[in-house]
Amino acid sequence: MALMPLVLLPQPVLRQVAQPVNDITDDILQLANDMAETMYAAPGIGLAANQVGLLKRVIVMDCARDDEPPALWKMFNPEIIWLSKENTKMEEGCLSIPGHNAEVVRPSEVHVSYLDIEGQKQEMQATGLLAACVQHEIDHLNGVLFLDHLSRLKRDMIMRKVIKENRTQND
Ligand code: ZN
Repeated sequence: MALMPLVLLPQPVLRQVAQPVNDITDDILQLANDMAETMYAAPGIGLAANQVGLLKRVIVMDCARDDEPPALWKMFNPEIIWLSKENTKMEEGCLSIPGHNAEVVRPSEVHVSYLDIEGQKQEMQATGLLAACVQHEIDHLNGVLFLDHLSRLKRDMIMRKVIKENRTQND
């Protein structure tokens, strides 16, 4: 397994749509394993392939709390098939936008279809943190960031800071 470099805002790959995975090949499984290792090392609770610079519909997540056993999800071609009408507000961050958390409103429950590591079609029902996380990661596959769920004012404020930080780093 290998750590992969994380792609940061405003790199364009974060705004592009990832392509479906046709077969669960050894290469795709290796990618999911490397993404999981990268996510744990960051540390983070979710990672989409766009964030390591690859436009493939692959996400990994582990939303277990520190006092719970690890619960690693590897999902290929995940797709939201049902969203609750009720919404929940939760604080979110993103490994591609480090240091800028914000409260995001999303449906509180979600059903997701996906392929597992055997290439079998599965369905997941998620609530709470896992529901927010899987929506955040599937957004990434569609070139959408959690910033897009904020007010324009908040989004612009974070974008300005990120651009300023990048400029300072490059000086
Ligand atoms: Zn993210």
